[in-house]
Amino acid sequence: MSDTEIQLSGEAAAPSACIICGGGSFRPAGISSGYRIFKCTNCGFHFVYPTPPLSEIAAIYEKYSSNQHYAAKAERKVLRAMKQIRRYRHLAPGNRFIDFGCNIGTAVEAATRLGLDAYGVDIDEESVGIAEREYPRGHYHAGSPESLPADWKDFDFAFMIEVIEHLPDPHAYVEAMKARLRPGALLYLTTPDAGHWRVPRDFVKWHEVFPPQHLHFFTRDAMRRILTAHGFEVIRFIWSPKSRLKVLARKT
Ligand SMILES: [Zn+2]
Repeated sequence: MSDTEIQLSGEAAAPSACIICGGGSFRPAGISSGYRIFKCTNCGFHFVYPTPPLSEIAAIYEKYSSNQHYAAKAERKVLRAMKQIRRYRHLAPGNRFIDFGCNIGTAVEAATRLGLDAYGVDIDEESVGIAEREYPRGHYHAGSPESLPADWKDFDFAFMIEVIEHLPDPHAYVEAMKARLRPGALLYLTTPDAGHWRVPRDFVKWHEVFPPQHLHFFTRDAMRRILTAHGFEVIRFIWSPKSRLKVLARKT
């Protein structure tokens, strides 16, 4: 393919509307590993466009979730999650906890150790298998949030840690998550912060930009918009010295 052809096919694939705010004005934010990234000039949302096909994303995940060295850090992750749960649980209306994107179950284990009734769901079967083996006091489900058993509902406290940036369709996931929470439930969500002062001026030089694992990069504005669109109310954003967006929200 010649350079001209690449340019032409690229232009044909320009986004038409921001999936977060509906805005129609974009700026190219660079190319990373062959994936084009755009910035919505209205809400600051950055996104890979076109969204790669699921098969392409899945292929990468096979390698991505090589859990061996992840497991070595597991206890440290359990302790960190315990700290977060302790800090915010007073804002949750009850004891039913669920971790969306639970990986090998470290936050589920943390919640269990703190006396919560803890559940975890993850699309990656291998990770869920490890969770079941390592932290058997939790309840686990391998699959999408749409595929959860019917009695996985009325949760009081949900974690969604470093998940939303991976999702080809964040709206569908957030909606499915919300359906499992009871009104008043607390959500603690983290993701890279595209609006953080540490993000390099040349966006694709940011260490969080590695498509196709990371597809969507939220700002506080964009995060508030997607949560509001799905019936959440932002309680507050938590300041982070790293380029991390941390938000506490409540299902209304
Ligand atoms: Zn936008």
